Amino acid sequence: MTTTMTTAANPGPVAPSTPAHSTLHPLGHDAVTLTGGFLADWQRTNREGTIPHAVAQLEASGALDNLRRITGEHEGEFVGFWFADSDVYKTLEAIGWEAGRSDVGDLMPFVESTIDLLARAQDDDGYLNSHFQVDRPERELLELRWSHELYCLGHLLQAGVAWSRSIGRLDLLQIGLRFAELVEQRFGEGGVDMVDGHPEIETALVEVFRETDDERWLRLARRFVDLRGRGLLGEDAMGPQYYQDHQPVREVRDATGHAVRQLYLAAGVADVVAETGDPELLEALERLWSSVHERKQYVTGGLGSRHRDEAFGDAYELPPDRAYAETCAAIANLHWNWRMLLLTGHGRHADEMERGLYNAIAVSTAVGGCAFTYANPLHLRSDAAGGGENAPTRRQPWFRCACCPPNLARLVASLHDYVATTTDDGLQLHLFADATIALPGGGTATVRTDYPWDGRVEIAFDEPFTGELQLRRPGWARDAAVTVDGRDGRADARDGYLVIDGSEHPLSRVALELPMEPEVIRPHPRIDAVRGCVAIARGPVLYAIEQADLPDGVLSDDVVVPEAPEVRLAGVDPVLGQRLLVAGARVRGGHRHELYRSSPSARSDAGYAPSSSAFGLIAVPYHRWGNRAQGGMRVWLPTR
Ligand SMILES: [Zn+2]
Repeated sequence: MTTTMTTAANPGPVAPSTPAHSTLHPLGHDAVTLTGGFLADWQRTNREGTIPHAVAQLEASGALDNLRRITGEHEGEFVGFWFADSDVYKTLEAIGWEAGRSDVGDLMPFVESTIDLLARAQDDDGYLNSHFQVDRPERELLELRWSHELYCLGHLLQAGVAWSRSIGRLDLLQIGLRFAELVEQRFGEGGVDMVDGHPEIETALVEVFRETDDERWLRLARRFVDLRGRGLLGEDAMGPQYYQDHQPVREVRDATGHAVRQLYLAAGVADVVAETGDPELLEALERLWSSVHERKQYVTGGLGSRHRDEAFGDAYELPPDRAYAETCAAIANLHWNWRMLLLTGHGRHADEMERGLYNAIAVSTAVGGCAFTYANPLHLRSDAAGGGENAPTRRQPWFRCACCPPNLARLVASLHDYVATTTDDGLQLHLFADATIALPGGGTATVRTDYPWDGRVEIAFDEPFTGELQLRRPGWARDAAVTVDGRDGRADARDGYLVIDGSEHPLSRVALELPMEPEVIRPHPRIDAVRGCVAIARGPVLYAIEQADLPDGVLSDDVVVPEAPEVRLAGVDPVLGQRLLVAGARVRGGHRHELYRSSPSARSDAGYAPSSSAFGLIAVPYHRWGNRAQGGMRVWLPTR
C-alpha cells in the first residue's frame, strides 16, 4: 500500500494546515501508541505520577485559590508569581492530551471544576487573569513587558486546543477565544503596537488558527512576530535583549537573553513559517539554530548557561557547575526542533529532540515522577550547598515558580506524537521506541526495540509497505546497518536518514542496527570551563559519575580518568538503567591548603598527580543522578 498525505484527522500538538510549506507531516494524536520501553514507561509515570501530583500541587500551592479570588470563593492574598495561572493551564493541557490516549476519569473532577471556575471567573469582555482582575484591574493589558498576560493566554489557548483535538471538547477553547478576541481588538491591526515580554502567544495563536480556520489568529501571530525587536517593551534594567526586543526577528543572528523566551519565540516563528512559507523568517531561524546548537548548548541539551537573567551566555560560555539550563528551555527546544523538523525534514532536528529528551529533559524528573529539578547543572561538588530552584542537590516536589513540572506533564502526555511523520508516499521514524503506528493509508507498522539501551530497531508492516521508509541515523552513530526481510538492505543516506524504497520490493520487515559502543566525548577547545575533560555517552544517553558509586574515602571532586579511557558495560540497574565502567580512574593527590601558589614547575598540575592505584569508575545515566544518596556528580571528567 501507499500512504496518502493528509492533514491528520485528529492531530496532536502542531498541526500545520498548509502542507505545502512543510516537508514532513504529523500523524494523528491516536496514530502512535507507545507499547513498552523507556518512552512508554515515562508516559505511564507521567500519567500515574506527575499529572495527579501536579493537580494536588495546584491546590496546595494556591494557584487554584488565586482563580477563586476572582469569583469570591477564596479570600486572601495572591500567592506565587503573577503568571501562576499558566501552571493551571499547562496541567489542563497535559490532561487534554492524555484524554486522547488513556482513561482520565479520575482526573475529571479537577478538569470539570477548573473549567467551570475559569468560565465563572472570566470577565464579560473576555479578560481572564487572576492577578490583575483582583489586585490591579486598572492596569489590565497595560504592562505587557512583565505582566505575562498574553503568555498565560497562550497556555490557556494551547490547553483548549489539546481538548479540542484529542476528544473534540470545545468549552475550554471557547474561554480562551473570548480572551483572544479582546486581545485582537486591542493589539490587532490598527490597534496598539505592543508585544508580550514573554513569548508564547505566537505559537498558541497559530495553533488556534489551525483549529478554527480563522485567519485573524494567524495575522495576529505574524503581527506579534514582526513587532518584536523594535524596542516596544521599553528600557529597563534587564535590557531589551532579555526579551529578544533588541533586534527584529528577521535580522537575528545570535541567541540572546532569557533562554525560554528566546526558544518559545523561535517555536512561534517556526509556526508562522509553516503557515506562510516566509523564506526570510526561515533563514533567520536557521541562523538562530546554528547559534544555539553549534555554540551555546550543553552536551546534555541544556540551554541558557547564565543564572543571571536565566539567559544564554556568550558563545562557548558553558560552565558545567554554574549551568542554569532550565528544564523549560530544554522542553522549548524540543518544541522548536519538532517544528523545524516538519519544515525542513532534516534529521539534525530530531537528533536535538533526542539529545534533550534522554538527557536535559529526562534528568529533571525523579524516578516516580513526583520531584523535579528547575536548573540542571552538569557538575555538583561533593559539598554542594543548596537545594532550591537554582542549584539543586536534590529534586523538589514543586516550586514557587512552578513552570517546569506542568510543562513536563504536557510534553510527556503527547510524547508519542513526536515518534513518526508521513509524506506523500513515505513514513519517517524519528524516535525509536516500542510502538504501533497506524499508517494514514491503512495498515500498521509495529516497532520493537530496547532503545536507548540497545541499538536494534525492528519494524514490521502488517501489509507490505510500498512507500519510502526513512529511519533516522543519529548524528552520534558512526555506522548503521539495515536489513530488509532478513537480508542486507539497500538504503540511501539523506539528510540524516537511511532511506529504504519499498516501491519495487514492498517492505515487510526492516531492521536497523545502531552501534552502541560507549563513546568518549571531547569538548570544543573554546569551552574553557571543561578543557582537559572528557564525557562518556552510549547512544543518545550521556553518563555521569555519582558519589554513591565511588569507593569509600574517594570524593567525586578528586577523580581523574585517562585521556582515552576504556569504557565497557557494567550491567543493568533496575532503577538507573545501563551502567558503564570507566577503566583506569585514579584519585588526584596533593591536597594542598593554598588556594593559589606560585610554582617553578612548567607542569600546571605539579603536586596534584594521581596518587592512588587505578580503579574502575562506575558511570550511570546522567538523567538518573540524584535518585540515591546525596553527593557529588559530574558529567565532564578531568583527565589531569
Ligand atoms: Zn521552567
